[in-house]
Amino acid sequence: MAVETVFSKIIRREANADILYQDELVTAFRDIHPRAPVHILLVPNQLIPTVNDVEPQHEAALGRLFSVARKLAAEHGIADKGYRLIMNCNAHGGQEVYHIHLHLVGGRALGPMLSR
Ligand code: AMP
Repeated sequence: MAVETVFSKIIRREANADILYQDELVTAFRDIHPRAPVHILLVPNQLIPTVNDVEPQHEAALGRLFSVARKLAAEHGIADKGYRLIMNCNAHGGQEVYHIHLHLVGGRALGPMLSR
């Protein structure tokens, strides 16, 4: 069974976060340890632990993550120069919080995607 993380509490506004956007499907809030001038996490409101748990019924929420990322990138002035969207999966992917989330990272040149 899926185990709730702090992200579920943030979505229900039971834990503090700088929430930038919320609708019936997704929530976006600032990463607590930003790696760049803009570092926002976009999460489905429904708990999906990893990408390995994604099912067809999640497609609406997962699609919404991208349309909200696009909107927030524009609002934060990083759309034209560019940004990176990242979703980590399990240990080798570097996932720390087991409630899937899209990182929206930008505001500086981010360099190569992966270190060699
Ligand atoms: P990942 O490694 O992809 O699972 O990323 C987890 C991200 O969640 C990290 O960038 C953390 O800094 C961030 N994070 C963990 N707890 C919180 C929190 N309470 N509020 C905001 N961001 C958080």
